[in-house]
Amino acid sequence: MDLHALTMANAHKLLARGKISSVELTSAFLDRIEGHDDRIEAFITVDKPGALAQAAKADELIAKGLQSPFTGIPIALKDLLCTQGVKTTCASKILDNFIPQYDATVVAKLKAEQAVLIGKTNLDEFAMGSSTENSAFKVTRNPWNLDHVPGGSSGGSAAAVAAQFCCGALGTDTGGSIRQPASHCGVVGLKPTYGRVSRFGLVSYASSLDQIGPITRDVADAAMMMNLICGNDPKDSTSARMDVPNFTLALQQVESKSLRGMKAGIPKEYLDVEGIDPDVLVLFDRAKKVLEGLGVEIVEISLPHTEYVVAAYYIIAPCEASSNLARFDGVRYGFREHASQDIIEMYKKTKSKGFGPEVQRRIIIGTYALSAGYYDAYYGRASQVRTLIMEDFTKAFDQCDLILSPVAPTPAFKIGENTGDPLTMYLSDIFTLSANMAGVPGISVPAGFSSLGLPVGIQMMAKRFDEMSLLRAGFGFERALDLKTRFPVLS
Ligand code: GLN
Repeated sequence: MDLHALTMANAHKLLARGKISSVELTSAFLDRIEGHDDRIEAFITVDKPGALAQAAKADELIAKGLQSPFTGIPIALKDLLCTQGVKTTCASKILDNFIPQYDATVVAKLKAEQAVLIGKTNLDEFAMGSSTENSAFKVTRNPWNLDHVPGGSSGGSAAAVAAQFCCGALGTDTGGSIRQPASHCGVVGLKPTYGRVSRFGLVSYASSLDQIGPITRDVADAAMMMNLICGNDPKDSTSARMDVPNFTLALQQVESKSLRGMKAGIPKEYLDVEGIDPDVLVLFDRAKKVLEGLGVEIVEISLPHTEYVVAAYYIIAPCEASSNLARFDGVRYGFREHASQDIIEMYKKTKSKGFGPEVQRRIIIGTYALSAGYYDAYYGRASQVRTLIMEDFTKAFDQCDLILSPVAPTPAFKIGENTGDPLTMYLSDIFTLSANMAGVPGISVPAGFSSLGLPVGIQMMAKRFDEMSLLRAGFGFERALDLKTRFPVLS
């Protein structure tokens, strides 16, 4: 049996029956990381001793019959989530020696269930990017084709799940960073409703848009992860006081034809977007037919403000980022340039050396757009557009339960192809940004392969707090499509 191929749910079953131990399972992943991660570069930190110790502890608990669905299951964490005692870099030089004194709430929840935290994954610096090329440390490669990007910013987590370096992972999504890399790597990624999952201990990029969510091998595992990470947290004032349903139980009720009664809307503006790859359109069309075959009624809807989404997002996100990143000043955290005459020079040198070019670009855009005289014209206006986008979604969801779209206009592009052209990179976020602007949940589910053999996902979005519909539809779709090839062969 290939232990590294197990889903979280299957690993749990085998652990519970005593067929495998967590130490065996964890060692299988560590061996695979050792054998292949020098080429894929999914991890910034692999915590081998920590993971093996946690696995041994999990095995003791399992032997006593004390186990939860996560006990002994190896999980990878995007290196933007604080882990007590384990370096948390945000893929930035400014934090390359930062060891948090506390755990993010999601990390604490995984630890409380004795999951095995195998390591911290690579990302675009501070989650700013769509390809994981903006990391200060390394470029992660797509396990399906090493010349291509894995997507981003949670590219390390998506690549780690696709390359079978862990059972599942956590990523974060501010404008698509869970869904887009999941699509590019052929795995499942879910961005929960804003407020569903506590952001405590997640290093903030754009606080009104950021959410943590699962990146997993299949939809059932995404449901399992959601059961654990969702819920109100007094440490995050934006976390919602909403009951968390048992997502896994709900999936068990999905029989092959039971998507009947669901309506999925396709925004007419989305198909007018320029530059959609023909392979993406073909796979999208097939996905639509698969859903129809399951009884989903497809309707045309309109999201009239789609053409303003990218512009508004790329004002709001940098504004929030410029404010959030002010805390990295060489005094309180991480790197400091000591060779300075006075404090102003120290700030300047620390930030110039500590932050990479994309992060500096965003801080400058954000600071400019928030400055006196420009605030109303940029941030104020973008916020008004955001309200219009939210209203578009509210109206659309009067007509349908799901909104269906591609995840990205193209399959994973080649490494280096877009790095010199930030605007093209920003435009590739067109289908994912709206969910964050409107605060609604979205999922990416594998939909097939491009003619070059690269994975492509489809996106479904739902009303706020209706992750249940996403998971049910995703689960039905995944089973009906029944892709035979799910994981790349690593050479
Ligand atoms: N690509 C988008 C950006 O660069 C989204 C990133 C994200 O979701 N973290 O801002």
